[in-house]
Amino acid sequence: MIRRRARSDRKRCVTLVLQSNPLKRLTGLGFCAVAVSFAAPANAQSDEDLFVEANLLSIFYHELGHAAIDLLQLPVFGQEEDAADVASILLIDALYESETALDLAYDAASGFAAEAIAREEGGYDVAWWSEHGPDEQRFYNSVCLFYGADPEGREEFAEDMGLPEERAETCDYEYELAADSWGPVFDDLAGDGYPMVFSGQGDSLTTDLIAAEVEALNEDFAWPVSLTAVVEPCGEANAFYDPSGPEVIICTEFEPHLRMLFGLLD
Ligand SMILES: [Zn+2]
Repeated sequence: MIRRRARSDRKRCVTLVLQSNPLKRLTGLGFCAVAVSFAAPANAQSDEDLFVEANLLSIFYHELGHAAIDLLQLPVFGQEEDAADVASILLIDALYESETALDLAYDAASGFAAEAIAREEGGYDVAWWSEHGPDEQRFYNSVCLFYGADPEGREEFAEDMGLPEERAETCDYEYELAADSWGPVFDDLAGDGYPMVFSGQGDSLTTDLIAAEVEALNEDFAWPVSLTAVVEPCGEANAFYDPSGPEVIICTEFEPHLRMLFGLLD
């Protein structure tokens, strides 16, 4: 049984202002901006930092999905990249109390939308050949699963994110299937094994966040072998799972890339 973390665990004393629909610029549809404001203490993190933090966590959980698939030798019926995205959004839903999970899901899904905007603005075609689905598809898949985990409680989320009714109606089933598939894996990881080890230097947001996250995850999960989470420069804004370590590598270049993406969301 995974412990749900309170908002204070993430130092998220403040809920970020939710972005306007991130796909507005892609679709030309006029969704209303939804602003949820809370009394902000003086040390409130900026919306940009919260966006960066949520996306780094989402990416980290995605890479842990790859790690689990490899280290537990899980069968994958479909694209592994999709399975890792599913693991990520399920962990966001499972690990956090509902308000925090909602904040993280808005920002993590918006990250995919921002990637799509960046691609359009760069004049690049959709990489249909990629092992990853198109960013727009990853956006809708994440929104659908998170909505499907609590359709009654998250109707506003689905609306804000522009989830079409045709897709929304299958999301509770999609969530159930995903939870039935990954749930027993998360339960397995809650058993005996090795804690994750952190390796990284400096005091960037990425280093601090991943170091703290490794510590927090070690409360819930143990691994069949020693798994290291590394924050280091890689020469590109990316993250990897390297089975030869085994290591999850979060590149330091990701943080400035995410700050650029945040700037693309109105
Ligand atoms: Zn991946």
